[in-house]
Amino acid sequence: MPTAINLNLMEKILSLSSQEKEFIEKPEKKMALRLRVKIGEKDVVNTDAYLVYYNTARGAAKGGIRFASNVTLAETEDLAERMVWKTALVGIPFGGGKAGVRVDPEKLDSFGKGIIMRRFAMEIKEELLSGKYIPAPDMGTSPREMAIIYGVTGMLECVTGKPPRIGGLPGRRESTGYGVTAVVDYALKNLMKKKIEGAKIVLQGYGNVGGWVSHFLRERGAKIIAVTDLHGGVFQKDGLDTRKLQDYYKEKGTVKGFNKNSITNEDLLGLDADVLIPAACEDVITKETAGTIKAKLIVEGANGPTTYEADRILEDKGITVIPDILANSGGVIASDVEWRSANSGSITQAEEVYEMIEGIMISSFKEDVEVAAKNRITYRDVASVLAGREVLGAMPDRGPL
Ligand code: NAD
Repeated sequence: MPTAINLNLMEKILSLSSQEKEFIEKPEKKMALRLRVKIGEKDVVNTDAYLVYYNTARGAAKGGIRFASNVTLAETEDLAERMVWKTALVGIPFGGGKAGVRVDPEKLDSFGKGIIMRRFAMEIKEELLSGKYIPAPDMGTSPREMAIIYGVTGMLECVTGKPPRIGGLPGRRESTGYGVTAVVDYALKNLMKKKIEGAKIVLQGYGNVGGWVSHFLRERGAKIIAVTDLHGGVFQKDGLDTRKLQDYYKEKGTVKGFNKNSITNEDLLGLDADVLIPAACEDVITKETAGTIKAKLIVEGANGPTTYEADRILEDKGITVIPDILANSGGVIASDVEWRSANSGSITQAEEVYEMIEGIMISSFKEDVEVAAKNRITYRDVASVLAGREVLGAMPDRGPL
């Protein structure tokens, strides 16, 4: 299991008391549900679902709902914890939470997915209506399922990531991919002293995050030389035609087979490139695969793609890692704008959303870079300490520990 933060360093630098440590080591609240959902005439889905509030000192538990066949309570806790640090790092007034339903989204049509989401939303309706948990899309879910949550609650502010036509925010759907791209651009220019134009990128995952990363990298002139998804992938030494790849994916639902140069998820990690972007799932850069990585820069689009042991190997190899809690925070920044718009009725255009995302993320990144250079520690470690300082500062404000 990847670790979201460097707790030992946080403990040392922030002089955590044992009570404070206990508070951030464990989630505030966990719910485990058994869902029994009838889909159509015959099919019945019996499955587990979870909702975790990790820490709400800085605000409501914010975090996506994941539909995946390997969802567990431990994974939901880990993802909820990441949301605590992510919102704190970029200064968004939310705490961290997460939900997950153990179903394989590839085996469900949109009707089936909708029925399961409706049932889950009914089960957690009180949490949603009270504003204690504010969901958004994650792996396996999309604006469509968020619209269903809106249908169950009848309140715009209960969920973000909705389709723009029904109270969603233009730019929210692509916001995580936009933010990842902005970080790649900044890191290449300022840390690697390279231009994004012509930079060679390898990308794992071609869903919401990966698909939009591919789109925005093309806009900025980078070359994606390989892409994989759950089914496999493709590479092209001088850069894939990502416009055609997008059309191919729309038709086939996978990038596999786009050309004859197929590549596995493992081999993708070891390709010679300027940047590796894991944008699929957790635990892909492990002690077994970290040694093969040739890219000098890794930007974590996915949550928790790097294990603790792999992080140490990458550090020894001098590979720069921009951690998930910074690199994929574009989504929650846009969610904050959507949530505020639901309350104020204001309308924001996609271009403004992009500007806000880039402004907030790059300013947070600059602080990270400055502290890292002064203290000679990794960007993940700096992010842990900066986020920890925010959360620990807020906890006493909410009353005595
Ligand atoms: P998605 O379901 O839209 O796409 C997931 C992609 O990863 C697909 O291409 C899928 O085929 C691929 N994939 C899944 N399992 C894989 C495996 N074992 N090996 C290789 N490829 C695999 O999900 P998404 O919303 O793009 O999320 C991707 C990651 O980004 C997740 O870690 C998620 O938590 C994180 N994230 C998402 C958002 C968001 O706004 N959607 C925000 C922040 C972080």
